[in-house]
Amino acid sequence: MADLAGKKRTLIGRLVQEKVLHSKPAITAFRKVPRERFLLPDYRPFAYADEPLPTLAGQTISQPTTTAIMTEALELKQGMKVLEIGAGSGYQAALISEIIGPKGKVFTIEILEELYEFAKRNLLDYKNVKVILGDGSKGYKKEAPFDRIIVTAATAKESKATDKLFGQLKENGILVIPVGDFLYQDMLVIKKANNEKLIKSLGQFVFVPLREKYDRV
Ligand code: SAH
Repeated sequence: MADLAGKKRTLIGRLVQEKVLHSKPAITAFRKVPRERFLLPDYRPFAYADEPLPTLAGQTISQPTTTAIMTEALELKQGMKVLEIGAGSGYQAALISEIIGPKGKVFTIEILEELYEFAKRNLLDYKNVKVILGDGSKGYKKEAPFDRIIVTAATAKESKATDKLFGQLKENGILVIPVGDFLYQDMLVIKKANNEKLIKSLGQFVFVPLREKYDRV
């Protein structure tokens, strides 16, 4: 593992050079959070390859470039209240936790019990993160509204999840959500301004699907 530090520096250096990472708090968080600690032991040597990697139950941790793009799109500030759908390894939640600081709070929902336990274990040191077991496609009413919401699973175009989550955003809040079909999704950044959606797309990505037990369509 001795060369992980060098590989980490190279990867983050490249993300900064390509302006994928550009804000100081995000760059600091990427430097600080050890991605290897969010991986299964066999994959730790590849922690700083720019690749998605398997977690458990056929799920994946996103590629660092994708994680960086989503983190920057959230325009996070200290003290914010953030909801994540799809805790997975917990890595994205850890990055958000570092940026929003001790006065902020991250709620991250995971639908698969195995992954919920994995994320909870990986996030033990992150005191401002709460991992919740459940279906996040309806958001998390109990703690709404949120400053920011991030969905790290592919949301079907016809899903009601986008509107439900938009409804749980504060005014001037931001929702980052990949929307499309199972082949690829558009990374949408949806801002809430005067209760209206201001939508921009950051291009196409591939995520594992968002599971929705009920009311598809
Ligand atoms: N953010 C994660 C990557 C998530 S992969 C990380 O940093 O590692 C997508 C995750 O979303 C998977 O673990 C999957 O089980 C979970 N998921 C899928 N549908 C969900 C739902 N409806 N509610 C909560 N989690 C869901």
